[in-house]
Amino acid sequence: MTMSAQTAAETAGNVAPERKGFELEDTGFKEVPKKYRRFYRKWQGEDDMLAENEVLCPVCRIVVRSAREVLPGDRVYCMPCMTRLMVTDVDGRLIGRPLQ
Ligand SMILES: [Zn+2]
Repeated sequence: MTMSAQTAAETAGNVAPERKGFELEDTGFKEVPKKYRRFYRKWQGEDDMLAENEVLCPVCRIVVRSAREVLPGDRVYCMPCMTRLMVTDVDGRLIGRPLQ
């Protein structure tokens, strides 16, 4: 009988909650090389609902997507405008804040 990954993590004292994983499909976002397209999509404007794995880049107004759930305090990279972003929660939405 093998120990589950979760049990192993608890044994190691790691209390970080498990993050949800997301399947990313090609969004047809042409501004970056094909292999990175699934990590970005165009923002549809104020009515656009951001998923738990999506962060809006305020610099170029592109949605950065992660294969994992994103939480405030995380850092993501916006390739289209080459900006490093700190994820912040703004009224329940995940918005990036450019880092120097
Ligand atoms: Zn950007």
